[in-house]
Amino acid sequence: MARLVMKFGGTSVADLDRIRTVAARVKREVNAGHEVAVVVSAMAGVTNQLVAWCQALSPLHDAREYDAVVATGEEVTSGLTAIALQTIGVDARSWQGWQIPVLTDGAHGKARVESIAGQELIRRMQAGQVPVVAGFQGLGPDNRVTTLGRGGSDLSAVALAAALEADRCDIYTDVDGVYTTDPRIVAKARRLEKISYEEMLELASLGAKVLQTRSVELAMAQRGPVRVLSSFVEPGVDNPGTLVCGEEEIVEKQIVSGVAYSRDEAKVSLLGIADSPGVAAQIFGRLADANINVDMIVQSAARTEGRQNIVFTCPDRDAPRAKDALLALGEAIQLEDIAIRRDVAKVSVIGIGMRSQVGVARTMFSALAGKGINIEAISTSEIKISVLIDASYTELAVRALHSAYGLDAV
Ligand code: ADP
Ligand code: ASP
Ligand code: MG
Repeated sequence: MARLVMKFGGTSVADLDRIRTVAARVKREVNAGHEVAVVVSAMAGVTNQLVAWCQALSPLHDAREYDAVVATGEEVTSGLTAIALQTIGVDARSWQGWQIPVLTDGAHGKARVESIAGQELIRRMQAGQVPVVAGFQGLGPDNRVTTLGRGGSDLSAVALAAALEADRCDIYTDVDGVYTTDPRIVAKARRLEKISYEEMLELASLGAKVLQTRSVELAMAQRGPVRVLSSFVEPGVDNPGTLVCGEEEIVEKQIVSGVAYSRDEAKVSLLGIADSPGVAAQIFGRLADANINVDMIVQSAARTEGRQNIVFTCPDRDAPRAKDALLALGEAIQLEDIAIRRDVAKVSVIGIGMRSQVGVARTMFSALAGKGINIEAISTSEIKISVLIDASYTELAVRALHSAYGLDAV
């Protein structure tokens, strides 16, 4: 007997038939003798609609009211899933974030989980009841509903698994595991049997939305095993998914395990600024004050003596604000010109084997050159290399890199 958290994403609860399928899957685990807690997302597309409504009324809406609106998607599916379970004879009840409670900080729209009271749920699970928890939401210090950022039901599930001391957290989704790259754009992508927390963290933060970044961070900190698997596989059919686990559990370490991409990038070039101490501190200090997350940074000397160029990337939606913040600095940094490109994408290769291998970057750059793709910026860490390219080449680049590192399925 084990204690499991089973999380179902938007496409897995997209309509009543899918919710019935989810209920049947949960019932099988209950019948096998396991204690089960379920976490659900909103029905596919619902959160997007709710966000769009807030945006349409006011682009600068009150984040507390945004949370009040977008948290409702999960409330519907938690109730419906509980009803579907009851209908097939499983004792179940729904739980909203505030009822458990899932306590968070006050950062509305992207709140962090601070604590989850698990005792009452554990008691009920031991008595045979299945809690069906609305993912994505919590309760802030202002006693108002908060949400955990897009894709946040993954975080709800991982945090709940820790609070319930679950043996495993199973993330059911519309693909049957974590792949070497997004299987929707590379047909030859392969499912990974296992992936280390470190690699999964890089994959997620570099654009692979199969798991939300913060959920991986938490799983890694807790060393809690997470499995990603399909909710679309028929009962009885093998569905091993992908285990996200410690590096020590992976025998064959690949040089490159995966390729990720993100189109949510903008490139900001500051041209001909003063080349003196403190200039970079002023620029990035101002961006930090404006809560803008900067990623790649490239600095180079300008043609004119005593002048330099600084190029950086930030999330696409923040580009206009970044420009405003930096124009306000104009005089202090003697800015000659500022250029913004929003049609760029970041493509990254990730692998723990990189730590001990030479030539990984060469393979990447040659593969891109072979397709005539120009690199506009580069950044590296111990286990990843990212390049910034023209967005129209994203898929071509991902496919070329996937082949170049021998990841294609045969
Ligand atoms: P859910 O609604 O279940 O949370 P998401 O849409 O958030 O599902 O995440 C699943 C999607 O992630 C898949 O449909 C797939 O297109 C995408 N994805 C991107 N990169 C990968 C990858 N490396 N492996 C698997 N899926 C990926
Ligand atoms: N429904 C939320 C979203 O679409 C949370 C989630 O699905 O994980 O972002
Ligand atoms: Mg998701």
